[in-house]
This record gives sequence, C-alpha cells and structure tokens, in this order.
Amino acid sequence: MDYSKLKQGTQCIHSEKYELKEYTGVTTPIFTATAYEYINQSKTVYPRYYNTPNLEVTEKKIARLEGGEGAVLFSSGMAATMTALFSLLRQGDHLILQDDLYGGTFDSVNVELKKMGIEISYAKASAVSFEQVIQPNTKVIFLESPSNPILSISPIEEIVSLCKSKGIITLFDNTFASPINQNPLELGIDIVMHSGTKYLGGHSDLCCGVVVSNNGFIKKIRETGVHFGGNMDPQAAFLLERSLKTLDLRVKKQTENAMVVATWLEQHPKVARVFYPGLPTHPRHDIAKKQMKGFGAMLSFEVLVDPDQFVLNLEMIAPVISLGAVESTICSPIQTSHFRMSPAERQAIGIKDNLLRMSVGIEDSQDIINDLEQALISTK
Ligand SMILES: *Cc1c(COP(=O)(O)O)cnc(C)c1O
Repeated sequence: MDYSKLKQGTQCIHSEKYELKEYTGVTTPIFTATAYEYINQSKTVYPRYYNTPNLEVTEKKIARLEGGEGAVLFSSGMAATMTALFSLLRQGDHLILQDDLYGGTFDSVNVELKKMGIEISYAKASAVSFEQVIQPNTKVIFLESPSNPILSISPIEEIVSLCKSKGIITLFDNTFASPINQNPLELGIDIVMHSGTKYLGGHSDLCCGVVVSNNGFIKKIRETGVHFGGNMDPQAAFLLERSLKTLDLRVKKQTENAMVVATWLEQHPKVARVFYPGLPTHPRHDIAKKQMKGFGAMLSFEVLVDPDQFVLNLEMIAPVISLGAVESTICSPIQTSHFRMSPAERQAIGIKDNLLRMSVGIEDSQDIINDLEQALISTK
C-alpha cells in the first residue's frame, strides 16, 4: 500500500506496518533481543544502533507524519537535541539560539557546548535580529515555535530564507505544535526535533525524543547517536507507536478545546491577558495562521487573583510540570520551567509572576471551563 496517499490521521494508524512472515497481527510485537545473528545478514542489528524492529517502524511513522525522509528515536527530548547539536557542531563553530527556547535546552547548551569551545549567541525570533548576530562561523540556528511559556511565534519562512542564503543549518523544536499542527520541514527547516514525552506520547507515561530530517542529516545524527548511546528502549518504542495511532485524534480535540478555553479566558474579568496563537489578539496571529495547520493546545494567561491559591483551588486540572497529555494540566513557569532565571531575565522575555501555562487536554471543554470558573470565583 502507498502510505503517502493517505491523510495524516489515517497515516497515524496505518502507515509503516511491521512486516513479518507468518505474523498476521495488526500491532508490532515487542522485540526485546539485544543479541541478533550477524551471519548472512544485510546489517548488524543492535539496540544502540537504533535499528531494532520497534525503533525502525516507529521512526518511519514519525518521519512520514513530519514529512521527513528519516527519523531517529532517543530516550528523551534532550538526548535528541544534544545528539543533533554534537553531531552538527565542532570547536570554533558558532550557534545562535532563539532567546526564549525551552529552559532545559538553554541550560544544556550553555553548559555542555560552551565547554566544547562552541560560541553561542541569542536573538529574538525574527530574521532581522538573527541577521545582527550572524558571524562567518555561524553553523546552526535553533528555533522553537510556538515557544514556552508565552507562545511566541517565529516567522519560519523569513528565517529559513536568511539561513539558506548564508548556508546556515536550521534546527527546530516542534514539540508544542506536534506534527499534526505544524510541519516545519515543509517550510524549509533542515531538522525538526520533538520531546516525544509530550504530544507524541500523550499520556504522561513515556519519556522519549525524536529528530526528523533528510537522509543526509539523519545518517550523521544516527552515527553520533551510536557514540552517545541515547537510544530508545523497545518497550517504550512500542508504547510510542501505540500512542501515535491516536495522535491526530488527540491533538485535534485538544486544539479545538484550547480555542474554546482561550476565548473564554480572554473575556473573564479576573484574567488580565491570554497568550494563544489562535486568538486574533496574539501579535503574530497572522503568521501562525500561515505556517500552522492548527494553533495547538498550549496557552498561558495572567490571573488577577493569587496564582498559587488559584492552582490549588482547581479540582480537575492537575498542577503538574510537563504537558501534551490527554488530561488538562497547569503550571506556574516561574516555579517550574523558568525557575533558574532571575526576575530581570524573566521580565525581559515577558514572564510575569501571575502567569500560568496550561496544557489543554481532551476532556469535554465545558468541564475544563467549569473548573477554571469555580477556581477563579473562589480565589482572592
Ligand atoms: C520537554 C521539552 C523538551 C525536553 O524534552 P525531554 O523529553 O524532557 O528531555 C524540549 N523542548 C520542549 C519544547 C519541551 O517541552
């Protein structure tokens, strides 16, 4: 069957079936072996070579959903990011980070890559500000959109055309959008990564990461991955493959709910401001509309009540870190993802103390609103 002819929601379920003679089951069995025969084989199979059956079939499915030629699956999002960067950069190279990248990326890159003699600069998410810090040795630009926690939108095509004219590689964190809402490779980005711990897994029970790109980059990143050994485990890969079957369904429902919740929050007297790319009041709503297929299910808002008490007064929405799962969750960025930043640094990127970040789940949207409403009413 030609999987490329299927719609994305159907590809989630049917693409890249595992083929094994005499096995007619509809799911991929879990292949736990760490020892494979080498005689008369076309390749050497070993978990750390990222080529056992559960990994291969799941990588192919994700590559297809993102519109890439290949993918590599890691044991976490950070393993994916750092392996890709170590594979692309060497001593003396220069890397530019969008200044509001995920906090963990920021920390890891600053600690580990600086130690290796890689120069690092930061820029706001626009071609003009990236251009100002580009140097002759700039090798990679790292972007994230929508970003955490205020859902800023990077103009992808504008930045891609700048990078292409200068021979700079673009790396893109597509975690918040998921492949259902945005496919950066189709907009000219070279390499996409996901924290699969979020939407791809989608049930708060799986830690993984993935890199998707063309065959050239994938070959390089896989080689570095073999050296660092951050491969995903077959049991986890099985769970991820299972989760992907409902990815389209989950993300579409979450996205629909997020629009309802954002619209409701925006008119609430106890809410000062809502950040959601789907709202016409978002400063880059028009760009989001152009480059995203849906606006995603992450939003944040500033409350005019005590934020800690408000979160404690919620009955259904869980106050937890992480995001992207079937259940709605909420967290305070200043106490979680941006805890290490100074108040001045937070202010510079627009994160206030009363900001809350919400990951909208697949519950009935009225139940989500009811919980927000009762907590807003009962909090001073
Ligand atoms: C969680 C997250 C990561 C890191 O992924 P892990 O799976 O925690 O290693 C990277 N980028 C974004 C946007 C994230 O939300």
